[in-house]
Amino acid sequence: MFNAKAYAAASATSGLAHVQIKRRDPTPHDVQIEILFCGICHSDLHMVHNEWSSVMPTVYPIVPGHEIVGRVTKIGPAVTKYKPGDIAAVGCLVDSDGSCPQCKADLEQFCPNLTLTFGSPDKHGTAPVTYGGYSDSIVVDERFVLRIPSNLNLAGAAPLLCAGITTYSPMCRWGVTKGKKVGVVGLGGLGHMGVKFARAFGAHVVVFTTSPNKKQDALRLGADEVVVSRNADEMKKHAFSFDFILDTISAEHDINAYLNLLGRDGNLTLVGAPTKPLAVAAFALIMGRRSFSGSNIGGIAETQEMLDFCGKHNITADVEVIPIQKVNEAYERLVKSDVKYRFSIDMASLKSE
Ligand SMILES: [Zn+2]
Ligand SMILES: [Zn+2]
Repeated sequence: MFNAKAYAAASATSGLAHVQIKRRDPTPHDVQIEILFCGICHSDLHMVHNEWSSVMPTVYPIVPGHEIVGRVTKIGPAVTKYKPGDIAAVGCLVDSDGSCPQCKADLEQFCPNLTLTFGSPDKHGTAPVTYGGYSDSIVVDERFVLRIPSNLNLAGAAPLLCAGITTYSPMCRWGVTKGKKVGVVGLGGLGHMGVKFARAFGAHVVVFTTSPNKKQDALRLGADEVVVSRNADEMKKHAFSFDFILDTISAEHDINAYLNLLGRDGNLTLVGAPTKPLAVAAFALIMGRRSFSGSNIGGIAETQEMLDFCGKHNITADVEVIPIQKVNEAYERLVKSDVKYRFSIDMASLKSE
């Protein structure tokens, strides 16, 4: 084992501070990565504050972070895909059983025995739970390490590992292609990636937002149209017309207002996670044979496919790069949606701790 620098929260209210953690020495199939950038995902914040205690109670101390980009520093003797010096990435998963039907279908994110990048029991026994990317290093089985195309900006590439795959995967699943009409509800970390992908797929992109002042930015990011969702007349104009709508809202909202905008066989996929159940009107689904579904990140193969797609289309997240010392302030701003559109932590700042 070796010592690594990290930022951890000791309790739900303590905030994050510098700590030393243990990482395992690379086993034969492991890749050791020096972390260069780590994105701040909303789920980091939920887990730090133990807001998902009913589903996933947080084990403290917690080292969050699952949007990791770095450089390979060491490899185990059996590693074939990476060598020291390579730029590599790690997303939300670091292990799975590899044998269940989900793993066999390349959908490791639904494996009953998956290991999340942070907060899952640590199979290697290095620590009680896995520690994430707010750290100067991480050691991961090469099956869960990804490649970043060399043309991408690394700070902006980090959020692709969660926000990117979360929005890319359902668009592929539901056939977003050229000529389709696609809606993106909410223009935050997830929504702004959704707009970029839908645009790159060649779809006609409509952004729904509650704030009229986001209009210009939505157009800049690639939207063809922007609808202020509080304006009933504007909403009505789009009734029964969408092939696909990506809903990124985590707050309570009227889902039927969007289901009614779907055309025949249209699909609305939820990627946000409101804590209270949503009320779905049966008629909003029956009329037009519409469907309502959910999606959660993507498997490793699809995540690599997404990263390669981003390389080809030069897609990264719009990020505000911060030093790790500003992470608590960044969390406060995230709660207020005061970021365009993702924080990316420059991990070189951890060296001064
Ligand atoms: Zn995430
Ligand atoms: Zn499995």
